[in-house]
Amino acid sequence: MLSVAEAQSRVLAAAGARRREAVPLAEAHGRYLAEDVTALLSQPPFHASAMDGYAVCFRDIAPGMILPVIGEAIAGKAFDGTVEAGTAVRVLTGAPIPEGTDTVILQEDVAYEDGAIRIMEDLPAAPGRHVRKAGQDFAAGAVLLQAGAKLTARAIALMAAAGHGTAPVYARPRVVIVSTGDELVPPGETPGRDQIINSNGVMLSCLARAAGAEVRDLGILPDRHDVIRDALAKAAAEADILVTVGGASVGDHDYVQAALVDAGATIDFWKIAMRPGKPMMLGRLGDAVAIGLPGNPVSAYVCAQLFLLPLVRHLLGAAAPFPAPLEARLTVGLPANGPRANYQRAAVTAGPGGWEITPFPVQDSAMLSRLEAANALLIRPANAPAAEKGSNVAFLPLNND
Ligand code: AMP
Ligand code: MG
Repeated sequence: MLSVAEAQSRVLAAAGARRREAVPLAEAHGRYLAEDVTALLSQPPFHASAMDGYAVCFRDIAPGMILPVIGEAIAGKAFDGTVEAGTAVRVLTGAPIPEGTDTVILQEDVAYEDGAIRIMEDLPAAPGRHVRKAGQDFAAGAVLLQAGAKLTARAIALMAAAGHGTAPVYARPRVVIVSTGDELVPPGETPGRDQIINSNGVMLSCLARAAGAEVRDLGILPDRHDVIRDALAKAAAEADILVTVGGASVGDHDYVQAALVDAGATIDFWKIAMRPGKPMMLGRLGDAVAIGLPGNPVSAYVCAQLFLLPLVRHLLGAAAPFPAPLEARLTVGLPANGPRANYQRAAVTAGPGGWEITPFPVQDSAMLSRLEAANALLIRPANAPAAEKGSNVAFLPLNND
């Protein structure tokens, strides 16, 4: 059986090349840059006033001096003309500093009367005071953001200010989800006496979409070899990641692997040393990575967190696509673990000395109520020795997922 870490690196290795696209800035939030971004213009584009006041030429003024105000400059409306020595121009924040001036005196530092200002005796000004120099934020041609950077709202504002209307990013991976099983009916329908509801499809759609994928959920396929084979072949042509749910083992009624092979797929692995989620499958069908998730909802969820979502993030351009574990103190002792890494549903709370974690006593991979109640997956590595109450263990926070 493969270790989780080995399986994770094989999942990334199975990924094809990332596709690039340019998207409008408003749609670029959370995406990753496919190339460096340089400034197309300087910011500010002109020397600008940082305050409301009066623009003067510092060299020409002295305490007590009276200067006629010969015009005004406001944001979006520059003062045309040159300011002669001994005169001032009213300027508001963001306005271009008029030609012939270099300093702004705050309006509270002058007395204004009859179209003129009188400079105070203890003038607190200095040359260049309250002026934002052209290009002091960034200069045209400067590299503002590096390839691989994640586009935050701040980074997008920076790109906009620097003259860009679109961002060069990696395309959202197209994820197609197919659930298999004769026992399944869609959410909202009334199941027959031997049926259950397909809860995995919506769960995986939400997860993959939140991770940045473009998701299509094709719904439920019956447990029939030819139907599954044909549907997967068709779906793979329009997917970067083809996700199947259920039927991933090699039981009598597990059709996915055989159907994938019959459709032309190559299969990499299908057993991982982990709990829940052992029967996971990785393959390639055409240009799509095929990920076969187990049908048990908790197994499907944990495998999505560990394998599917990192693959989505990797294709989006993330350099560190795997979830980063945190540490918490155990509130209970735990026995030694077996040869399979165990991801236990757990509750994490803030204690006086940091996070504290309590695994749920019942760890059943079919129980969605326990999964929903958890806010963490406690990680018990393969063959971990017994852990005492109060010792530190790793966990994956589940945040809003
Ligand atoms: P399988 O992987 O097909 O052997 O399914 C394992 C268990 O998960 C069975 O109890 C299935 O009924 C259940 N299951 C399979 N697919 C889904 C699904 N899409 N939603 C909820 N439960 C499922
Ligand atoms: Mg099944």
